[in-house]
Amino acid sequence: MKRKYMTENDCYQSGRKINPKGIMIHSTAVPGVMAAAWFSRWNKSYLKGEINRQVCVHAFVDDQEVWQYLPWDHRGWHAGGTANDTHIGIEICEPGGFSYGKGVTMVGYDAAKQEAYFRRAWKNTINLCVFLCEKYGWTEENIICHSEGAKRKIASNHADVMHWFPKHKESMDTFRKEVNKALSRALEREGKQKVGLFQEGDIVEIIDSAKLYYPGGPLIPEWVKKEYHKVLQVTSNGKTVTKGGAECVLLGKKVNIQNRKESDGIMTWVDTKCLRVIELSSQPTKDVRPPEEKQYFRVQVGAFTHREHAQSMVDKLKRAGFEGIIQVH
Ligand SMILES: [Zn+2]
Repeated sequence: MKRKYMTENDCYQSGRKINPKGIMIHSTAVPGVMAAAWFSRWNKSYLKGEINRQVCVHAFVDDQEVWQYLPWDHRGWHAGGTANDTHIGIEICEPGGFSYGKGVTMVGYDAAKQEAYFRRAWKNTINLCVFLCEKYGWTEENIICHSEGAKRKIASNHADVMHWFPKHKESMDTFRKEVNKALSRALEREGKQKVGLFQEGDIVEIIDSAKLYYPGGPLIPEWVKKEYHKVLQVTSNGKTVTKGGAECVLLGKKVNIQNRKESDGIMTWVDTKCLRVIELSSQPTKDVRPPEEKQYFRVQVGAFTHREHAQSMVDKLKRAGFEGIIQVH
């Protein structure tokens, strides 16, 4: 998973936090624009007139990549309803090679030709959902799509993703079923966290039950399991590395989590199923402090025995340009 926050987007700037309760799946309805390309499209300000929509989601997924563009607990602008207060928004990029007719009709969409793309994007989205379910302790029941949100009146009236999934004989129900399967497989594995979505700089450890670095690979010495390791590379020449049929990442330096000191490490490709994340790689440094974290010092300007006297003081304050409230004790 790659991460780069859309710090110029008004949604990011507004800095509102949520306590996420689930995931809302969308699809872009823009044929052929892939996950990485959305950054330059949306890392802009509506207030400054740079973009004509007020929109931002947590992540985009395509057949190759996952890009996280907002912190997971940031309030996104994807649902057009109260689901923004509760749901993490994920956009699946739609492939190129077709167009949109009136409304939500896909024109010239060749499902057979698009099947390979669809399967990979579908799988990547499932993996991301599994990652989030594990992170927040959710099940597949915490996942809905935009059109389901519309039915529940917590999102605007959009058709995604159910205008698209059925073309590949899938639905949100089959999607949830797949998440359930992947999630129980992941939970079965010792150490509960399966994160197939590493990024460079993540700090990980190797789970106790792991014996080999990858299927058919060298034996893992015991001391290696006692150390924390830094993920050095997640791809090679832009491609995922598989060894013995397993997806691997390259572990480089050993890291002392207390003093952050790094020392020579194992420099070995390791099956991601053997790893548990200890710490995600550091967040972007630019810090926009959410408005609600600002400190205020309130000043009392008077205490009155009659409400009308209190009200006239508030009116006076307002005329002078200050906010005023009446509190009853
Ligand atoms: Zn949508």
